[in-house]
Amino acid sequence: MPAKLKSLEFEQPKLKYLSAYSEKVQSQVQQMLEQKKLAAYLLSKYPTTHQITSDKALRSYVMSLKNQYLKKSAPLSQIKYDDKIHIINNALGLHTYVSRVQGNKLKSKHEIRVGSLFKKAPEAFLAMIVVHELAHLKEKEHNKAFYKLCQSMLPDYYQLELDLRIYLTQVELLGRIYS
Ligand SMILES: [Zn+2]
Repeated sequence: MPAKLKSLEFEQPKLKYLSAYSEKVQSQVQQMLEQKKLAAYLLSKYPTTHQITSDKALRSYVMSLKNQYLKKSAPLSQIKYDDKIHIINNALGLHTYVSRVQGNKLKSKHEIRVGSLFKKAPEAFLAMIVVHELAHLKEKEHNKAFYKLCQSMLPDYYQLELDLRIYLTQVELLGRIYS
C-alpha cells in the first residue's frame, strides 16, 4: 500500500508503558485510547493536581514519607525535579546511587530525581513515584520484596502504577490533561 494511504487507524500504537501488563489490560487501554476515553477516565479518578511544585516542597514531601516508613534507610543527598528526565526515555523518577571509597570507608550517596512532568499531576502519581524511588533505597531490584515494600507505603501501589502508565500513554499519544 502506498505510504500516503497508510492511515493511522491501521497502525496499532504501541503501548510501550504497558508492555508488562496482560493482553487483556492492554487491549482495554487500546480501546479506550482509540475511543479517546483515557482523559475522561483519568480526570474522573484523579480530578486535581498537587501543590508540591518546588524542589523544596518536593524534598519535604519525600522526607516525610521516608521518615514515616524508612527511617533507618540510607540518607538522601539530593531530591529534586529534573527537566532532563524526558517522558520518551524515562518519565518515572530516577534514583541514583553512587558509592565511593573515602579514606577507608565506603560512602554512599543517594539521590532522588522526579521528572518535571509530575510537577503538574495528581498527588497520587507523585506519591507512587516517590514510594517507588524510596523503596529502591532498600531493594535495588524490582523483585517481590521491592513491591511488598511499595505496598506497605502505598496500599494502592499496583493500581496507581497502572493508572500512571495509562497517564503516560495519554500524554505521549494525545497530550497533557492537567494544566
Ligand atoms: Zn525502579
